[in-house]
Amino acid sequence: MDLTRYPRMQFAHTPTRIEPMANLTQLLGGPKLWIKRDDCTGLSTGGNKTRKLEFLIGDALNQNADTVVTVGATQSNHARQTAAACARSGLNCTILLEDRTHKTDLNHNYNGNVLLDLLHGAEVQRIPADKAVTEAVEECLTTLKSAGNNVYFIPGGGSNAVGALGYANCALELTCQSNDMDLHFDHLVHATGSAGTQAGLIAGLTAINNPLPVLGIGVRFPRETQEENVFLLAIKTAEHLKLAQSIRREDVIANCDYVGPGYGLPAQSTLEAVNLVARHEGILLDPVYSGKGMAGLIDLVRNGYFNANQNILFLHTGGSAALFGYLDEFTQNS
Ligand SMILES: *Cc1c(COP(=O)(O)O)cnc(C)c1O
Repeated sequence: MDLTRYPRMQFAHTPTRIEPMANLTQLLGGPKLWIKRDDCTGLSTGGNKTRKLEFLIGDALNQNADTVVTVGATQSNHARQTAAACARSGLNCTILLEDRTHKTDLNHNYNGNVLLDLLHGAEVQRIPADKAVTEAVEECLTTLKSAGNNVYFIPGGGSNAVGALGYANCALELTCQSNDMDLHFDHLVHATGSAGTQAGLIAGLTAINNPLPVLGIGVRFPRETQEENVFLLAIKTAEHLKLAQSIRREDVIANCDYVGPGYGLPAQSTLEAVNLVARHEGILLDPVYSGKGMAGLIDLVRNGYFNANQNILFLHTGGSAALFGYLDEFTQNS
């Protein structure tokens, strides 16, 4: 898997560390839980989008773009990391924010990731409630292009075959770490949303013949939809990588039992997971993604889904900047 064939920027502090979660392991009574710190990728408080943006911004610059447009929910971590990557690369950045939660409080709408989008100098536009996201994107692209800008569009979550290369690379990285540590992982667990992380991991693991099972914990869609989204993007990523092996449908597994009330709305189990990991591991999760991923992991451990002697690796995809957009939820539950 030769990734030097693709234009790329260097943003991420990698390899991200793999650390034991000894306290959580003890609290839950095994299996051995480990965490890969992709929350510490270094770009504007870090997170999983940084790896994708290395290839996406590389591609944008290769196409001589001067302006990047992307889209996300109000508290989008992807939007924040894109704004930072653009600032670093001398690109203009326009962010279209979609209101998926209908939360009206100030913190949700102006603090956390939104504050950081603005600090990085991005132009932030809110998509009106009565307008379809695709329509808002088209209008924005047309306006910017007719004003003479060379525009590069990044889809929500940076999830296309270019962005997913970042997680194909992460599959390679964690395989090397596992080999160097002489530590076999039985499962890799992480939050899955726009599918690029899981698709890239599966394409990368397939490419290097690592049979490590990946379990995506869904944050938005029902299982069938999520697995289909991941599968289709993994196939596209494999094509982009010109892999000889094809992606196996049975390798794509999502568990969407921990979404709770909906995207961007934490369930009780989400808040419990965020609190537990903050208090016992000193690690910040988030209320939209990694908190739900961890809630899934904790519940599966409690229900005996894993063997007590297994090693389970949780990929921490970041998101803690969103905590500041969810002040109400945490102060009501502490
Ligand atoms: C975007 C995001 C995810 C989900 O990754 P996808 O590639 O969109 O599936 C998980 N965790 C955090 C913190 C994110 O920002």
